[in-house]
Formats: sequence, structure tokens, C-alpha cells
Amino acid sequence: MTGRILEPGSTLGVLGGGQLGAMFAETAHRMGYRVAVWDPDADAPAHRISTHSFTAPFTDLGVRDQFASVVDSVTLEWENVPAELCEWLEGRCPMRPSGAVLRILQDRIEQKQYLSSRRLSVPAFAVVESPLQLISAVDRLGLPAVCKTARSGYDGRGQWLLRDASDMRKVGQILETTKPGHRWILEQFIEYVREVSVLVVRSESGAYAVYPVVENRHEQGILRETRVPASIPSDIAEKATELSKLAVAALQGVGVFCVELFQAKDGSLLINEIAPRPHNSGHYTLDVCTVSQFEQQVRVTCGLPLGETRLLSPAIMVNLIGEEVRSVTSSEGSYALHSTAGAVLHLYGKRMIRPGRKMGHITFTAPHALTAEELAHRFITRLQRPSNFA
Ligand code: ATP
Ligand code: MG
Repeated sequence: MTGRILEPGSTLGVLGGGQLGAMFAETAHRMGYRVAVWDPDADAPAHRISTHSFTAPFTDLGVRDQFASVVDSVTLEWENVPAELCEWLEGRCPMRPSGAVLRILQDRIEQKQYLSSRRLSVPAFAVVESPLQLISAVDRLGLPAVCKTARSGYDGRGQWLLRDASDMRKVGQILETTKPGHRWILEQFIEYVREVSVLVVRSESGAYAVYPVVENRHEQGILRETRVPASIPSDIAEKATELSKLAVAALQGVGVFCVELFQAKDGSLLINEIAPRPHNSGHYTLDVCTVSQFEQQVRVTCGLPLGETRLLSPAIMVNLIGEEVRSVTSSEGSYALHSTAGAVLHLYGKRMIRPGRKMGHITFTAPHALTAEELAHRFITRLQRPSNFA
């Protein structure tokens, strides 16, 4: 045995209380741990399944002290928590991932500079701090390109596709109205063949647990579906896995990381971004892997050995976004879904339905990938017909 492990009965702190925090908390409880959730939103799903609940802003020093006094180790489910808070906490107990890793990954510019300085491939990019710099960045990278806020973006929010001069004018105006000091990144638009992601778990002692490569399809910047295993040539899968491990190693990351990649037309792979936490594209692990991404997060937060990542069945995960959730909460929809062999429903219990908000997901599983795909796509067609939400 290496290092100290936290025994069941200990309290694990989680910064952020969205659905990822809730799935972490459920898993931690199953494994015999207590959970302290800190999320300023009192309605955040993880509060309902917490042993201790904190709802103050992350800048509240009194609550910071209270939180620190109940936790034995801390993790996070959202990369936008203040890095200073993580750095302060790690002076008192294990913090996985570390504040230093969070500092790099929570800023798209820092992240891309860090990766490219270590010769890990990313799309060509430029830093943009003013509308004037947007023009020089486009001169250098060409169009189409994507302009993204450096911090705090998610689900495609805070980013714009630039195709022509009129898009540049529109985005230039948006940049004009933002606060001084706000930074943006312009990225070359990659005409990718497909998007894939790899979940890499790395322990304190440098051991790895890596999940199979999955294939992601987005609609309007939001993840629509994840297919596992990805239907890609084995050499591309090996390259994606290797690149993802190298990236986490370069960061000396300890925790669960999701590496999102583009496969370009020439077969090359580019890192789009790395999340220092479990990821939407890894939700299928709850239903069809020996050990889920959330259990790995518990294990790594407690210093336990990492678990097996074996895939037990092909699967397709479909997100329920905004109003789509009604398709499974009506009695007809609920009955139809639960009559579908191999379909597993996860609802996040969010009270407010908002456009683009992730309300839940379904994992469609089947002995053959094609059957899972057929079931999932039949369901997606139904989702896209509003009359079916009756
Ligand atoms: P999420 O929260 O889903 O991870 P995000 O807001 O952090 O998303 P990105 O992952 O950077 O943002 O972008 C969302 C999606 O937009 C990508 O998965 C991809 O489909 C598309 N996209 C982003 N950047 C590029 C690019 N440089 N070239 C082509 N497509 C891109
Ligand atoms: Mg992304």
C-alpha cells in the first residue's frame, strides 16, 4: 500500500453542486463516505444528497473555514471555482485536482499555451484583448475561425464562429462592450472528421486508468450524443489515448480528466480542451463500465487504488436538453422509455427548465452497437418532434 487512504466514514468536499457533483455524491455515499457540497446556488442538485451543504459565494472566508473544518479531502465538479480557494484548501487537506492545474485549465489561453509549449497539438490560436487584435488575429489565422471567451465558457456559450467580414464586425462589437481586461482566444476552425474524447484518471502515485475512446456529436455547441466505443480505426484510437495520457502527464494532473479531441481530415489529432473533472461524455460509465468516472473520482480523492475501466456493453448516451426533458416526464413518454430494453434514464432534478440546460440523459445499451444506435436515433427523432412531448 502506498500513501495514506481515507477510510469510509470520512468526509469528501466537492466544489460545485451541479449534476456532476450530484453523481459524485451519490457514488461517494454508496462507498460509505460523507459529502460536503459547496455551491452558491441553493437549488443545485447535489445539495439534496449532501451530508453538509454550503451555499455562500466561493469568496466567503467564514464559510471557507467552516468547509475546511468538516472535509478530509476535496475535489471539484466545475472548473470555474476560484483557484486561490483550491490553493488555500490544499494547504489543509488533499485537493484533487490541485489549484495549480486548475489555474492552467480554467483559462483557455493558459491551457493552449501550456499544451503547445509542451509540443502537444492544439488548433492554431491567437490571444485577443481588443477588437483591433481580432483583426490582426484573423489576418494571421484566416477564416473560418472561432472566437471564445478565455474563461467561464461552457456548452458553447461565449463563443462565436467567424465566417466572413460581417461576422467579424458583429463579434468586434461584442468585444467592444466587454469589461477592460477580458481576454478572448481566436482559434482556427478545424474541419474535423469527428470529435472524440478520452477520460484519463491519474493517481497521486502516477498510476493511470484510461477509458475507451468515445465519439461525440454536438448540436449548436452542446453535446447531443456520445457513442462508445468510437467507430474509428484502432491506430487513431491508440493515438488519441496516447496523446491524452501525455497531456495529463504534462500537467502532472491528479484526478479525473477528460481530453476532448478533433480528428482532422489528414488523420491528425488536435486537443480541443481538457476538463479537470468527470465529463458529460463519460456518463455512460455509470451504466456500462465496471467502475464509473465518479467512482474513480472518489477513489482518487481518497487515495484508493484506481478501478478497472472495462466496457461491459456498447452504449449511446443521449442528453435531454431544455424542454426535451418533457418527452420522458409525461406519462406516455415515461412508459415508452421504460418499455425500451436497455435504456437507462438519469434525471438531474433541476427545477427550472431553460433553453440549452442539461436536464438529464439516457444511456441506450445493447449487445450490438448498431442496435444501441438504432434505439438512440429513434428516440432523438422523437425528441425533435414537439408534438411528442404531450
Ligand atoms: P463544453 O462545455 O461542451 O465542453 P465549451 O463551451 O467548453 O463546450 P468547446 O469545447 O471549446 O466549448 O466548444 C464546443 C464545441 O464547439 C466543440 O465540441 C466543437 O464541436 C465546436 N468547436 C469548438 N472549437 C472549435 C474549433 N476550433 N474548430 C471546430 N469546431 C470547434
Ligand atoms: Mg468542450
